[in-house]
Amino acid sequence: MDRLLGGLLALALYTSPVAWALPVFDGDFDCLDATTANRYVSDFQIDSESFGGLELCQPQVDTKKLLNDLQLVELGQFNGSTVNIFIQEFVPAGDYYLWLKEQTNGISRGDDIPWATAYNSGGYFTMQDGWAKLSTLGRVGTLIHEARHTEGYYHTICDHGPYKDSRISGCDESVASGGSHGVEMEYYARVVLQGANFHPVYQSMARLMLLARANFVFNESPMSEKDALIARTSEGLARLAGEDKQLLSWSFPGSESFQLKRTSLGATLLDLPNGAWSIDLERPDIAPALSDDYSYFKLLKMAPPADLVDVEEVDIHLRRYMYAIDGQERIYNYIFGQGAWSPATHLPGVERLVTHNPMGQPGLFAVFKNLTYCPIQVPFLRCDRTPMPWPADARKFVSFNGSTLKLGPDRMVYDSKGEVWDGLGEAEVLDLTLVPHFEIFQ
Ligand SMILES: [Zn+2]
Repeated sequence: MDRLLGGLLALALYTSPVAWALPVFDGDFDCLDATTANRYVSDFQIDSESFGGLELCQPQVDTKKLLNDLQLVELGQFNGSTVNIFIQEFVPAGDYYLWLKEQTNGISRGDDIPWATAYNSGGYFTMQDGWAKLSTLGRVGTLIHEARHTEGYYHTICDHGPYKDSRISGCDESVASGGSHGVEMEYYARVVLQGANFHPVYQSMARLMLLARANFVFNESPMSEKDALIARTSEGLARLAGEDKQLLSWSFPGSESFQLKRTSLGATLLDLPNGAWSIDLERPDIAPALSDDYSYFKLLKMAPPADLVDVEEVDIHLRRYMYAIDGQERIYNYIFGQGAWSPATHLPGVERLVTHNPMGQPGLFAVFKNLTYCPIQVPFLRCDRTPMPWPADARKFVSFNGSTLKLGPDRMVYDSKGEVWDGLGEAEVLDLTLVPHFEIFQ
């Protein structure tokens, strides 16, 4: 069985590496000694030739990537007793290497199922192109996921998320059912909560990957979601959580041109045409933004339509959608069941996409150059009704704590009475969005 659509490419905007921790990025790993490499090849019956030949040093060779992953599995240590719902002792914390070895009859590299990251056939894993483009964390998670399939765990049809209404069996019933997703999430949760020698950036990646996948791969949802308001201000990024009204802010080194977007796991900064930067809302101090391998903004790394000017990831009636518009006033969506972007449809005058209308109602809306807007009739590429007026003095609306807030072109936020809203402090507000916030790591 496959592990569907992992993320790609790992880059981070972060500052200081931690000397004592295991490496994170492929370029951070030392050359591996031949004895250890040969032991890995033998333990996992690796078809080195299919990965580009045995390679001890060059990080761009797929064989070295796999050796890096196995090093992380073998040397990663866990301690402490902190747990959350994802840690259920499916795999004993100290046994990952031996367990993985027992469940692996062989590993080779192929490109026969391009929409999958990897698949397991009778204990033989075939790692696809998507696997090679993942971060170390995502690749280790893929190995652990595939290993669980050897023990006879299979997927079921998804009743929500991107694969709802597709015929792809990509989900597990619940965390407690202990399937491949459960075992994969347990590893990420342990890295975050019990990791003894992992780099904080690797832990940040694990937190994001867990949130990204756990919000849709289990039909019985293990997490409850709260609203948080995220803003891009003249001082950096700010978060205002729902009930405690606690304002957290931190500096961010990126460009003012980045657009702040909601995702299914939090927030991302859209950096067209380059991609997107995921924000770790729990620990933004570690890596203010990591290349978004987590939300479906990762699709921007997989041959997206050209000249995109706006992209939104939204959940409507339990189904996830990815919509985009380009500079030629055309609209697209991503067809998850086919692993491809739809053909383009002309939507004359369309300028951008937003996720709240002027009344503060959530959804997906197209805003036009003539200051009108319409709701998009998902899953189609058209308006659901005749366009209505969009206020000239409004950049965006969000609904937060019962009021509809408006962001103006003057970089001020106003409440529904038209009064200046000071919930984000004194800073100028460049952009804001409402995001889901999951409290599973406190
Ligand atoms: Zn699977």
